[in-house]
Amino acid sequence: MSDCVFCEIVAGQIPSTRVYEDESTLVFMDIGEVNPGHVLVTVKAHVENIFGLNDTLAAAVFRTAARAARAVQKAYAPEGVTLYQANGAAAGQTVFHFHLHLVPRYAQDGMHLTWPAKNPPREQLEANAARLRAALD
Ligand code: 5GP
Ligand code: ZN
Repeated sequence: MSDCVFCEIVAGQIPSTRVYEDESTLVFMDIGEVNPGHVLVTVKAHVENIFGLNDTLAAAVFRTAARAARAVQKAYAPEGVTLYQANGAAAGQTVFHFHLHLVPRYAQDGMHLTWPAKNPPREQLEANAARLRAALD
C-alpha cells in the first residue's frame, strides 16, 4: 500500500534492520527501541489492524512472535518481556499496518502502562461476557 511505512520496509524500499522473515511475517528492530532487543513482529501483507487478520495470518504472526520472544529471552535474558499491540489511534496505534511489539523489560526501565482497573461487580462481568458471547463469529 502506498504511504505505508511498514509496506515500504517489507518491500525493501526504505532501510530496516531485519531479524527474521518467512512467507507471511517479518520481524525487525523498532527504530524507537525502548530496550535493546525491542522488535516489531508484522505481517507482510498490508493489514491495518487485528480485525484484518484471517485465521491463517493470525496463527502465523503469533507463531513468529513466540519464536522471536524465545530469541529475545535467549539473547538478552531480560527480567520480563511485554507484548504490546495497538489497534486504532485511541489504543495508541501510530503506524496503521498490523504489528506487535516485543519489548524486553527491566524493573526500573521507565516504561509504564497505566491500567485504571474498575473492579465491577460479578453481575456486570456476567453481562459483559454475555454480550461478547453473542458477538462471536
Ligand atoms: P505503534 O505506536 O503503532 O504501536 O508503534 C509503531 C512503532 O513503529 C513505534 O514504536 C515506532 O518507533 C516504529 N516505527 C515507526 N516508523 C518506523 C520506521 O521507519 N522503522 C522502524 N524500524 N520502526 C518504525
Ligand atoms: Zn502497510
